Amino acid sequence: MADVVIVGAGIQGCASAYYMARAGLKVVLIDKSRVAAQQSSRAWGFVRVQMRDPDEIPLMQAGKEIWRGLEAELNADLEWNPGGALYVTNRPATMAYREKWFNDTRGFELDSRLLSPTEVTRRLPQMTSPVIGGLLTESDGHAEPRKVAPAFAQRARELGASVLEGCGALAVERAGGRVSGIVTEWGSIKTDKVMVSAGASSWRILKSIGIDLPQSCIRASVARTNVLPYLTDAAFVGDNVAFRKRKDGSFNIASSLHGDVDVTLDHIRLAPWYWKPYLESKKGIDLHVGVPLLRDLAQRLPWRDEAKYPAIHEREPLIPPHQARLKSAVQILERDFPTIGRVGIAEQWAGNIDSLPDGIPVLDAPTDHPGLLIATGFCGHGFALGPIVGRVMCDLATGRANNLALRAFRLSRFAEGDVKAPMSIW
Ligand SMILES: Cc1cc2nc3c(=O)[nH]c(=O)nc-3n(C[C@H](O)[C@H](O)[C@H](O)COP(=O)(O)OP(=O)(O)OC[C@H]3O[C@@H](n4cnc5c(N)ncnc54)[C@H](O)[C@@H]3O)c2cc1C
Repeated sequence: MADVVIVGAGIQGCASAYYMARAGLKVVLIDKSRVAAQQSSRAWGFVRVQMRDPDEIPLMQAGKEIWRGLEAELNADLEWNPGGALYVTNRPATMAYREKWFNDTRGFELDSRLLSPTEVTRRLPQMTSPVIGGLLTESDGHAEPRKVAPAFAQRARELGASVLEGCGALAVERAGGRVSGIVTEWGSIKTDKVMVSAGASSWRILKSIGIDLPQSCIRASVARTNVLPYLTDAAFVGDNVAFRKRKDGSFNIASSLHGDVDVTLDHIRLAPWYWKPYLESKKGIDLHVGVPLLRDLAQRLPWRDEAKYPAIHEREPLIPPHQARLKSAVQILERDFPTIGRVGIAEQWAGNIDSLPDGIPVLDAPTDHPGLLIATGFCGHGFALGPIVGRVMCDLATGRANNLALRAFRLSRFAEGDVKAPMSIW
């Protein structure tokens, strides 16, 4: 019998396991694959309040307090770099959008500020492309995603949590109207609390108890370069390229706001939720219809494992990076920062960002499902939130008071139809 079983060992599951184990709970953390198998090891690594949905700002501000001391707390090198977040643009519409965010979030007393072209040049003297302005948040930073969730998992283990890799959840069990356990590939685990933090697969597990979460996904690609000359410590977003400097001097680089949707039947089923945000960001999203849809149809054949075990579906989904787009991001970096010389790609990968229609996650212990905890749907910015989410989920599991406003993140908003337009669904 466990006090809580956490499904999914991404950063949300690992951070929650750590805080819950530290609070004295008997925790079992299971993953169908391994710790940080999906988004949490594939992220760019930005830890930012900048350009966040206002509903997430108090959470992220509290989260930044944790990030500052996290390496000491976990006794691990996380490659934490408090170098800020710097977004620059030469596009009037983009600048106007950022100015609007800046004005709308004044009440939070952030240290974000707008930069003139001269101030941008002072901060990025190597950049030769024209800009009309920038947005800077000096208290933001970045860290290495491949290190953070594993460090949380390790500390959770040291505090007594069981971390079971290769153990997929099949269904949540209920008795007398409340959670009574979880059925896994390895057998059932009795518990009166199950936390679902299975990234883009969370909706599959929630379906086992009749919850219909309109969760979708968008593929995003990243490359690691060779070691490059210094440009900035800030997490940087330009009009067509984004990057952050890693500790060894190589860069994580991506096209700033471009992703891919590999259309499946589930994307079609969820179209009423997503057609509007997709249309609004149509320049940033490429739809791929064909091979992904055929693959999806084949996986629905009754003898396929994906159909027999829908909550597990694909254990290690094939997520190909968009190589041409990464190559073009590299060319833009070489063009806009000519002193950098030739940029080589050492490694490239992609991840499935789990999205929700309003661009903010579900963080909830829904009262109509006693014993269930949910932390999912982070829409491309959940790496940074991981530590504070862990603490919040621990508070929800232990019933400890929490002064953060969580109402915007309740599950019931979808059934209530109280779903706002997203700032971004990824
Ligand atoms: C390319 C890319 C760039 C990003 N950049 C940033 C960034 O710069 N900053 C930022 O804040 N965020 C970023 N994000 C978003 C961030 O990575 C995610 O929001 C965050 O990692 C989500 O964490 P998670 O724990 O919810 O999910 P995940 O990390 O996806 O973990 C879910 C886990 O659940 C497991 N699982 C699934 N089904 C089951 C099952 N049935 N049983 C057991 N286990 C199961 C999976 O194997 C997986 O390990 C980026 C994401 C991507 C893909």
